[in-house]
Amino acid sequence: MSEVAYQLGEVEYLQPNGTFRTALLSAIPVNETLLFGIAHDITEVKEAKQRIEHLAFFDALTTLPNRALLAERAELALALAERHHAVLAVLFLDLDRFKEVNDSLGHAEGDALLVQVAARLKTLTRGEDTVCRLGGDEFVLLLPEANQAGALRVADKVLAAFRQPFTVATHALQVTVSIGIALYPHDGADFAELLKNADTALYQAKQDGRNTRAFYDRQMNVATFERLLLEAELRKALAAGHLCAYFQPKVRLADGTLAGAEALIRWFHPERGAIPPGQFIPLAEASDLIVDLGEWMLTEVCRQLAVWQQQGRPPLTVAVNLAARHFCRPALANQISGLLAAHDLPPHALELELTESTLLETGAQTADTLAALERLGIGLAIDDFGTGYSSLSYLKRLPLTALKIDQSFVRNVVDDSDDRILAATIVTLGHQMELVVVAEGVETEDQRRCLLEQGCDLAQGYLFDRPVPAEDFAAAWLAPGPDATSHPGYRTSNPK
Ligand code: C2E
Ligand code: MG
Ligand code: MG
Repeated sequence: MSEVAYQLGEVEYLQPNGTFRTALLSAIPVNETLLFGIAHDITEVKEAKQRIEHLAFFDALTTLPNRALLAERAELALALAERHHAVLAVLFLDLDRFKEVNDSLGHAEGDALLVQVAARLKTLTRGEDTVCRLGGDEFVLLLPEANQAGALRVADKVLAAFRQPFTVATHALQVTVSIGIALYPHDGADFAELLKNADTALYQAKQDGRNTRAFYDRQMNVATFERLLLEAELRKALAAGHLCAYFQPKVRLADGTLAGAEALIRWFHPERGAIPPGQFIPLAEASDLIVDLGEWMLTEVCRQLAVWQQQGRPPLTVAVNLAARHFCRPALANQISGLLAAHDLPPHALELELTESTLLETGAQTADTLAALERLGIGLAIDDFGTGYSSLSYLKRLPLTALKIDQSFVRNVVDDSDDRILAATIVTLGHQMELVVVAEGVETEDQRRCLLEQGCDLAQGYLFDRPVPAEDFAAAWLAPGPDATSHPGYRTSNPK
């Protein structure tokens, strides 16, 4: 018999039980007109191969195409678009505050939500579109032939579809999504560039307040570059000692005596001059840089307090602002108690200020850290109160010691009756929760009197003093002496 064998290909054959199997057919020529055929059943091999391919190209949780398949389809779609001078859109989606769902309900529920999101996204797209799960709570829609108007229509359809709550383990979850959009050929020549630019646009959508969409524009890359530059500069500043702690007094509204201080960071850039915290704190918060910055601030404040203590100045409680990322670190309480011990300071030398959004962002983990800080005896204040959405029942469960009324309510407290009622309500509420209530941004004598009438305990603001360098603060507010409480504290007028 001949040595030559022909591969004839795969054939499907029907079994007596009615199911099909696959066989690989090969043949060996017997003579010029006769072939001897052999059929190899390859059904299991083929199924295993398909399973492996599926794993390699589809997301196991949602069964959506994964990044690898997306890249493959995008290459193909781009090649077609190029040949036909057509357009194409890439939509980068990221669920808003998904971490909170995971933290408060658990990972199983988080997964269940992702599966439902995937299914909902599929119903919104056409057959030729690709819905991909990139990982975590990130999804990408690849829309062949979609122009700007088409991409906008789909993005708005997605936003509208998310208004309907998702049902996960009997919870009705209201979830929103942010979307960044990049268009071919306008915003990128290849898929990697389009995806990167859609991601940049997504960042903009998040900045715009989430639950919205943003188109990529070149200016964004300039902004991204500026951000990176500033971040690198901030790292340098931390090492080079260009950061400085300023101190602003908190006084008792009743008699103007000093009740404590807040430490506020200042950055003196050798070329750009003073850069306000509002410009670099949000930037630092996007990375672990904020943790380094907070650690620097805690250390600097403890160092300064130890100096004042050695100089025989009256004891002082200084509040340090900490960002969300700090409270996710289980070691925070230990770290702070170590710092206090190293500088020979009591726990009440430090207070921490955290915002409502910090609490919301970090969820359950924060509660443990806060409990550990409470056991240490560190005061905890809610900063900028009234600007977030924290539920009272949630706040009540936390070991808080103070509540700071946001400046925006204090500003018009004298003339605007709504703001006055709001401030009064926050004071009552704070007192019911046994918290010290502090008014921020008090600038005028009328504001001071109005807040005092409403029973507010402490105030901070330009009326009493601006944030100033440590030496100036000590000179004005921390005269050394045997009786620390006799300091008049309030300098603009003498109540009583
Ligand atoms: P914040 O914690 O609410 O601090 C109060 C802000 O109000 C400070 O702004 C302060 O200078 C300003 N202020 C005080 N009195 C008055 C007043 O009478 N009128 C007005 N209009 N403003 C007043 P600053 O220093 O620019 O800080 C802004 C924000 O940056 C802070 O808000 C805080 O959220 C953040 N920040 C400052 N230092 C740090 C820090 O060391 N770490 C962290 N994570 N955040 C910080
Ligand atoms: Mg603060
Ligand atoms: Mg504040």
